[in-house]
Amino acid sequence: MDAILGNGSPRSQVVRQLILVFSGLLIVALLLGLVSLYRIAQTLDEREQAQSRFYAESALAQLQKNERNYLLTHAFWQAAYDHLAGAADSHWAFDEDNVGQTLYTEDGYEGVFVLDDDGTHYAVLDGQLSDQGFDHHSASGGRVLQLARQAVQREQAASGYLLFRGQPALFAAAVIRSPSAPHHLPAPAAVLLFVRVLDPAMLEALGRTVGLSDFALSTAASAEPGRGLLPLEGSGQALTWHVEQPGSTLIRTVVAPFAVALLVIVMFMLVFARQAMRTSASIDRSHRQLAASKSALETSEARFKAVAEAASDWIWETDAQQHLTYLSARFAELTGHTVAQWLQRPLKQLLDCDTLDIEAWLHGLAASEASGNLRCQYRDRAGQQRECRIAARAIIEQGICKGFRGTCSDITDEVAAHAQIQHLSLHDALTGLPNRNKLFRFLEQAEAGQIALLMLDLDNFKPINDSLGHSAGDAVLIEVALRLGQMTRDSDLVARLGGDEFIVVLARPGQQEEVDRFCLRLIETLRQPITLDGHTVQIGVSLGVVLSAQYPAAPNELIRYADVALYGAKQAGKNTWRYFSPQMNAALLEKRTLERELREGIPRNELVLHFQPRYKVDGITVASAEALVRWRHPRLGLLRPDRFIPLAEESDLIVQLGNWVLREACERARAWPLAVMVSVNMSPAQFRRSDVVRDVADALRCSGLPAQRLELEITENVMLNDVEGALHTMTALKELGVRLNMDDFGTGYSSLGYLRTYPFDSIKIDKRFVQSLGKSDSDRSVVQAIINLGNAMGMTVTAEGVETPEQLALLSDDQCHEVQGFLLSKPVENQVLMRLMEAGKAADRVMP
Ligand code: C2E
Ligand code: CA
Ligand code: CA
Repeated sequence: MDAILGNGSPRSQVVRQLILVFSGLLIVALLLGLVSLYRIAQTLDEREQAQSRFYAESALAQLQKNERNYLLTHAFWQAAYDHLAGAADSHWAFDEDNVGQTLYTEDGYEGVFVLDDDGTHYAVLDGQLSDQGFDHHSASGGRVLQLARQAVQREQAASGYLLFRGQPALFAAAVIRSPSAPHHLPAPAAVLLFVRVLDPAMLEALGRTVGLSDFALSTAASAEPGRGLLPLEGSGQALTWHVEQPGSTLIRTVVAPFAVALLVIVMFMLVFARQAMRTSASIDRSHRQLAASKSALETSEARFKAVAEAASDWIWETDAQQHLTYLSARFAELTGHTVAQWLQRPLKQLLDCDTLDIEAWLHGLAASEASGNLRCQYRDRAGQQRECRIAARAIIEQGICKGFRGTCSDITDEVAAHAQIQHLSLHDALTGLPNRNKLFRFLEQAEAGQIALLMLDLDNFKPINDSLGHSAGDAVLIEVALRLGQMTRDSDLVARLGGDEFIVVLARPGQQEEVDRFCLRLIETLRQPITLDGHTVQIGVSLGVVLSAQYPAAPNELIRYADVALYGAKQAGKNTWRYFSPQMNAALLEKRTLERELREGIPRNELVLHFQPRYKVDGITVASAEALVRWRHPRLGLLRPDRFIPLAEESDLIVQLGNWVLREACERARAWPLAVMVSVNMSPAQFRRSDVVRDVADALRCSGLPAQRLELEITENVMLNDVEGALHTMTALKELGVRLNMDDFGTGYSSLGYLRTYPFDSIKIDKRFVQSLGKSDSDRSVVQAIINLGNAMGMTVTAEGVETPEQLALLSDDQCHEVQGFLLSKPVENQVLMRLMEAGKAADRVMP
């Protein structure tokens, strides 16, 4: 070594210069190495950041998806719709634990709520029923409602983050809907909401699912070194986690030796060759350490791949040419293909998209540095077409696109479920026929062409449903749907609007005569008996028809026209059809006006009672007085009950009217000078819509009239709808002590059978028979038979509508008990009746 330094020999000079040049080059090379090392390290860290962020996002997305799906199983549920969409039934929800404690104990939801714009209707907090509303715990109520209602448009649930009791939390929310009528949303739609607090334990577990460590929440706006950051919108906080920094590690382990190396080289310049030896040794060491760092990096990548295998969607990566470079193992599980088979092949060979070119789409993503979603198809190993959604993002390093990376979720089941929901929303669940929604679509599409729209109403359906049960009713509806389907062409449409209302739309109806023939055929077809295990039933049908050629209109108007025509057909005696005409509409409008006026008129005391006495057959002794209601109409004058009772019977008005009559009749009768009975007519509709036993008891109590002075006149139609229920009600009425009179006897369905079963005290022969007395012998024998029957069963028999002395004489001969009619007295005002009674009393006193 000394020889080399000391000796200025030309050879050693050359060697010295060579060594100097060599050392200089070495320094430059080392400096260059350092710079590129720094850049590599930076890239490594960036890639690690991006990868870990991608996995954190996947973890959150997966979590939200699970939460939404779970919530939907509760919100898109008929029972929940029945019990929670309106007034919340906490017995069903909490006590029966349908939407209750288990959601906390098993599923870990700290909050379960049902809300709408009026506030919270149902709340379970930490598994306990609570009366504190959601707003008490969070300020996000409005946002949740809005998101859930937006999501329902897509038949989805909403999810996101919020602050709950001061803590960041995850929520999922959806509008409560009925699967049988998914598009019918009550307004304001109630929303079911699940809240899960993001506590350290659950974050830790979430992190584990994607192999990231130290998941935590932070209020910081940007990431600290060595940590990833993902803002949780709505909660005011962000998710952070630990990120490996292979690049920084590399620098830390390599820069020091490099620095040493540089120093050594400088020394080498001073001490030449010996130091050169040391330097080379040092470089060797550096290289070994570099290799070690690289292998650390490789393990870190391997770890990510391992994570990818755990995710439920499969993960893919391509190079810049879009050739697959990586597929997670889930790929093989979900598609049946092997990973090896697809590596190095173009992505677009695997996935197919019919709206976009995948290759161009990915280039677009690279250019805009954005991430995107695309719905695609692929064929699985069995050759089956599957639906999927890919999420993709370009891998950009120092401004250069190095490839693409993304996930792929199989959505085949989701798509199928969506199609099913679509079907449900357009079809009636019972008959499978199109429903109102589909009908409207059909009519909108048909708007230009000519159609005939027929609205059907089944006659006699309700009694079948009531007496034979709902399953029998359902069977009838299904049979009707079947027959209608057989009668129509493919281009026509048969829809069920609900209940026993059907619509038939004829797409090419032809002339009115042709429609007439169709209606006749339809009525005949539906009239054919229907056999339901053991029973044979028969139904009829009334039809309202509108021809769009005559009255072109929007779908809802056309349906209304048909409804008006249907009303006409029913008025005309059922089992027939009527075409819409504007006059009908006028009649209907008049009817509606009258109904409104009656509703207002009852409380305004526009009703008045007239009384028609009923006499013993001697024609002198008053046995009872029948209350007959009149309406002093401000515009139309005094109206007979026939004008307004049928109207009232179509709605709840009959209950109001009936109760007014009951009270008024009892109060008047209480003040009569004679303790005769008062008879009150009761409509079958009252039995259906109200608790008549309670109504009668109330009227008696309020007026103080003894029960035995009240008689109720009931027609046998009351038994038609609900035989069992009617028997029960009438027995209860008898227990109150009132008398029951069967009105209009002889006009109903199967009177004799009923008479035996039901607790009637008397029967009233319909005036139709009485009035033909003396004209027709057969009617006289009917009257005689009824009188005999009454006698045999110990019932009082009354004849109503007695107009002539001859009729009275015949009834007297046949030993009818009581009579009523214009011959003896017309219905009169209460004042007049009282005077009649006073006169009767006076006569009594005169005649011992
Ligand atoms: P209804 O119960 O059969 O009442 C008898 C009807 O026959 C009464 O008509 C009465 O005025 C009439 N009438 C009585 N004697 C004769 C006669 O000799 N010849 C003829 N041609 N008619 C006679 P109104 O008052 O017009 O009542 C008609 C129907 O309206 C009643 O028939 C009853 O079904 C119903 N109605 C009357 N008031 C009430 C009520 O308060 N509640 C209910 N639900 N229905 C009532
Ligand atoms: Ca009557
Ligand atoms: Ca009658």
